[in-house]
Amino acid sequence: MKDISDMGLETKVIHAGQEVDPHTGCVTVPIYQTSTFAFKNAEDGAEKFSGKKKGYIYTRIGNPTIKALEECVTVLENGYAGLATSSGMSAVNAVYTAFLDRGDHIVSTSAVYGPSRVVIEREYSRFGIEYSFVKTENLEEVEKAIKPNTKLLFIETPANPTISITDISGCAEIARKHNIPLVVDNTFMSPYLQRPLELGADIVIHSMTKFLNGHSDVVAGIIITKDKEHYKRLKKVLVNFGGTIDPTQAWLVLRGIKTLVLRVEKSQSNAMKIAEFLENHPKVEWVRYPGLKSHPQYEIAKKQQDGPGALMSFEVKGGIAGGKTVMDNVNIITLAVSLGGIESLIQHPASMTHSTVPKEEREEAGITDGLVRLSVGCEDSKDLIDDLAGALEKIKLQLKDN
Ligand SMILES: *Cc1c(COP(=O)(O)O)cnc(C)c1O
Repeated sequence: MKDISDMGLETKVIHAGQEVDPHTGCVTVPIYQTSTFAFKNAEDGAEKFSGKKKGYIYTRIGNPTIKALEECVTVLENGYAGLATSSGMSAVNAVYTAFLDRGDHIVSTSAVYGPSRVVIEREYSRFGIEYSFVKTENLEEVEKAIKPNTKLLFIETPANPTISITDISGCAEIARKHNIPLVVDNTFMSPYLQRPLELGADIVIHSMTKFLNGHSDVVAGIIITKDKEHYKRLKKVLVNFGGTIDPTQAWLVLRGIKTLVLRVEKSQSNAMKIAEFLENHPKVEWVRYPGLKSHPQYEIAKKQQDGPGALMSFEVKGGIAGGKTVMDNVNIITLAVSLGGIESLIQHPASMTHSTVPKEEREEAGITDGLVRLSVGCEDSKDLIDDLAGALEKIKLQLKDN
């Protein structure tokens, strides 16, 4: 039989790491909801602790349900091994803690997920860690930002909320030249649309809260490494810091992953139709979507992504008031942060997530007053377009009123 790693991704999501249970014939991986595992005798316990014998000890260190999930995503990303975490931020922090020492420097994407940046600026800085957040979509800026004490290159692509795209293999070349690991936050794409390890990255992380679980009902994360040394280092950090996942949470994600391909295909085809609709709408200034030729990094997206994905941002006319009008007038599309779920979610950064950030700082990060972020779900595309059309119509009325 062919090895699972040689099979198609549609087969991998359903079968990788998920053999029929040898004890009971259970077709789905059971939820091993236990905190601890009994030793047969003192010798057995001693051998498991010393690593002489394989086996489970305690769920924070390892658990069969969690292992199934880690194996599945490792196969999807074509990695060496994986570590499932209690949240996406737990994965991000495990990476930071494992590779940054006092006096070290990190180079990262300026539009990286908010908390991934804030935790460096406010917390890691207390331990003497230095940072440069740069527009990594420009490789020259990446190269320029590297210093002798740079120990980590951390990128997110596509990044929020401008959907800016960074050339992964270009960054891998820079990282290799300076002998530092390249970490890619692949949350926006999922392994179905982008596999950074194949493009030269050393470590991939995901907020599995998003596309991998895909049902907006779990918070979870994962780290996949390309080599054994990085895995061993990260495992030590994660286990001792306690950022590991719970078995039931792991099982829910494993269940969500089985439909990853179906969900992403449908969301993506809806997104393409919506992006085209928005691009031709008189109340929309511009649309940023990797499937449109107007996207500034359209060519890089085509080179490294297997599809444009389900996320876009667009600028509505009427500034903050225009954005708020759209938020208040959508019906099927839900007004909420997060993304990658089966339902469409919309948010307006200038009045919501970034409302406390001063206007100049916001604009510097590309977050203009009328920018709306949309995560397209699996509903009927016509219903979604009708919903947006109705909400955009209301901007006109408001502009007339003013
Ligand atoms: C949501 C998100 C995270 C953080 O994940 P949590 O599961 O919320 O902790 C990290 N990176 C990106 C790109 C995200 O979208």
